[in-house]
Amino acid sequence: MTTTPECPQCQQTMHEGFIPDFSYGTGTGSVLQTLWHPGKAEDRTFLGFGTGTVKIEKTEAIKVTAFRCPDCGLLQNYAL
Ligand SMILES: [Zn+2]
Repeated sequence: MTTTPECPQCQQTMHEGFIPDFSYGTGTGSVLQTLWHPGKAEDRTFLGFGTGTVKIEKTEAIKVTAFRCPDCGLLQNYAL
């Protein structure tokens, strides 16, 4: 995004960041950037058993950027 959003409550310039995803199952304690995905979350199964994860289509997922107000802490998320 080209302009930095202002907090709708405080009119303060918001600070850009992201929400780390402390992913399980990647082995080495990887930290990923949270993604937005269209549709309802659907459980992924393997041999008929739930895996504790959800199905995703990698080409549909978009990284989420989170802007935070330094005064009130409000978060606004953008997936662009
Ligand atoms: Zn604010």
